[in-house]
Formats: sequence, C-alpha cells, structure tokens
Amino acid sequence: MKWTYASSYQCDGCKRMFPLRNNKITTCTHCGELLEVRYDLNTMKQDIDKNTFKQRKKSIWRWHEFLPLHDEKNIISLGEGDTPLVPSIYIGKKLGLKNLYLKNDTLMPTGSFKDRGFSLALSFARELGVTQGLTYSSGNAGVSFAAYSQRGEMNAAVLIEYLANPLKKALIQLCGGQSIVLHYESMEDITMMLEEASRKLNLYQFVNFINPIRHEAMKTYAYEITEALDWKSPDYMVHPVGTGGGLYGTWKGFLELNELGWIDKLPKMAAVQPEATGPHVKAFNKGQHVVEKTGDPSKTMAQSISADSAIKDGRRVLNALYDSEGLAEAVKEAEIVEAMNDLGKEGIIADPASAATVASLKKLTNKSLIPSDSTIVCVITGSGLKQPKAIESHFNEETKNINADFKELTKILTDI
Ligand SMILES: *Cc1c(COP(=O)(O)O)cnc(C)c1O
Ligand SMILES: [Zn+2]
Repeated sequence: MKWTYASSYQCDGCKRMFPLRNNKITTCTHCGELLEVRYDLNTMKQDIDKNTFKQRKKSIWRWHEFLPLHDEKNIISLGEGDTPLVPSIYIGKKLGLKNLYLKNDTLMPTGSFKDRGFSLALSFARELGVTQGLTYSSGNAGVSFAAYSQRGEMNAAVLIEYLANPLKKALIQLCGGQSIVLHYESMEDITMMLEEASRKLNLYQFVNFINPIRHEAMKTYAYEITEALDWKSPDYMVHPVGTGGGLYGTWKGFLELNELGWIDKLPKMAAVQPEATGPHVKAFNKGQHVVEKTGDPSKTMAQSISADSAIKDGRRVLNALYDSEGLAEAVKEAEIVEAMNDLGKEGIIADPASAATVASLKKLTNKSLIPSDSTIVCVITGSGLKQPKAIESHFNEETKNINADFKELTKILTDI
C-alpha cells in the first residue's frame, strides 16, 4: 500500500505528462494550458478496499491516497472536512422532495469550504519548499488562505476583490495575511497578471485551476457523501459556482470512484449562479463551449459566486455539466433571501451563495427538471456569519419589548 497514488501531471491541452514531485510548475510549460493530477487507480483498486477509510481520524486527510501530497509530515490541517450531511426536514417537505440532503460546510474552520482546498494546496506548497504565496479572492478564499499559510509558517498575500465586504478583509488580517484590494475588468486580466507574476517573480500561486492542486481537495465531497449514503451516488449534486473549482473537483471525485468500481452510477451536476451575472449558466443553457463575460457583480449579494466571467473559458466546468448531463440555473436576489430563511429553519446559517442552491431547487422542481424522488445534495459552502449585512438587512422585523413582568409576558405570548 502506498500513501498516495498520485502519479503525475497531465496537460489538458497537449496531453504531455510532467512529474508531480518537487515540481513547482502550475501550468503546462509547453502550451500554457491547465494541468491535471493523474492517479494510478488500477494499482489502488488492487491495494485498497472502500471500507478502509471509515476507521480513520476525521478530516479530508482520511482520503490521502486520492490526494497529491507525498509526505504526511507536510500536512497543514485544522480539522477540515467530514462535515455533516444533514437530511432536510423543512425544505424537502416544502418542495415535495423526498430525499434532500444539505452538506453543511458552514462548519469548516474558517467558515467556508475553501478550507478543504487550502489545507491541501498549502501542504503541497510546503512540500515544494514554497515560502511566499499569492492568491486572488472574493473573500472566503483569502481568509482560508491566510489561516492555513500562517499555520504552515508561510507568507500570504491576498488580492481581495474590491466588492468584498469589510469583515472578510478584516478576517484576512486577523489571521495574519496581507490583504491588497484588487480592481479589475475581467477574470482574464487577473489570470494574465498572475501568470506573469509566476513567471517573472517566481511566485507560486493559488488561484483555482491555475493552481492544479486546490480542486483536488474538492473530490472529498464525492467521497464523504457517497460513503455517508452507503456508497450510493446521489442523483443530483447542486453547487454554487464561482470559478467552478468546487463543482469540477467534486465531479472528478465521482469519476474516480466510478473508475474504481466503488459506485453504481454518476450523479448529474447542477450549477447555480445569480441572475445578475451567471456566466456559466448562460453559456451552458445556450449549449456553448466557451463562457463569456456577462452581467454586473455589484448587483448581487451572493458575493462568493458573483464573478461575471470564467477562468480559461470555463471549459472544465462546462465539460462537467455536459458529461454528467447536468443542469444550470440562475436565481434572483429575492429567491436567495427566501432560501436563506428556509435554511435557517433547518438550523443552518448559510451565506447567500450557498442559499442559491436551495433557491434553484424550487425553480428546477417547478419546471419538472428534477423528479421528486431523486436523491439530491445541496452543497452549503459557506457561513452567513461572514456576511452579517445580508442577514441584518433582510431579517429585521421589529422586535417586541417587554419589562420583566408576568402580566406583560402573558399578554405578549397570548397576543400571537
Ligand atoms: C468560493 C465560494 C464559492 C464558489 O466556489 P468555486 O469553487 O469558485 O466555484 C461558493 N460558495 C462559497 C461560500 C464560496 O466561498
Ligand atoms: Zn500542454
């Protein structure tokens, strides 16, 4: 048995292979395209049984055979992963869905699912001897990046989007990171700037997909969820999509489980974005293979999925949607607020981006695009506590006041 079955990098474009170990490249040195980590699943299949993982200590690192780190002494962990798969009580009933689950990643160390990716990517960077990292973030990634790099004793510079809220900027500093507010026209400008920075300043960087490691950790969604469902795949996986690292990584995880023969079928992937932007949703629903810039990110409160354009034309995300015969849906601001309320009634304090998944379900079931007996998992990616204004401004009915007096208490309770 090996500690990891990761074997090499392969370029999405020219298909050349590159060594994985001690190799600081992030994109293809031949054609510039994205790199994908490949695994020796044939050997893994002979060596390991799927029931091996259950006995291990809770964290994404239970699944180290599927992750590209080589030496476990480089792990930087805060106990990320293994969050509850909560069966819905309220929303399922409201929408007539019998098997709806909520994967509650609001409980992650820094309050978002980004912790899965940064635990892995920063451990991997430490193994490479990286001491200075750079990433771009709409907020949550920056906080997670700062926290994990400090734990790994690396310097973290975060280019935080100008639209991010003040709390997220403050949390980056609280966790010891340097935050630099970034103004830009499109995602392409950012990726071009970062590619040049990698080349000329020899900086290792951590933007989804340009960094080939972060989305590998999102595969743990597929492993944790199928294990919790007794190795039955859900019919639908519903993800809020910004860059699509979460949706795409999860899909890759399911493909691996399928190749190992550990699951009976693949789920359909569903992408959710706000109507104000929704570049991937628009492209998919028009049958396109390239995502174009669209909409205005300042017009949605779903900050974590407000991007108006995609990394590398959004090709990986679109392929996951086409290959899985999936779905894409855009949601309105009022629908997001209603869904935040619905999740609150499940006991989950979700941020607007996460709530968008639940908002989309209502539309997809109304259009009969999802059968009511399907097993559906909505990925609740981030905590609403990091966007307090979104909660305060919508759930602010005037509260009643009483004095500590039994008569007043009785009156107010019987008045309802
Ligand atoms: C970053 C983020 C997303 C979007 O994730 P991608 O991998 O970029 O698609 C969704 N929800 C929350 C809470 C996030 O922080
Ligand atoms: Zn190439």
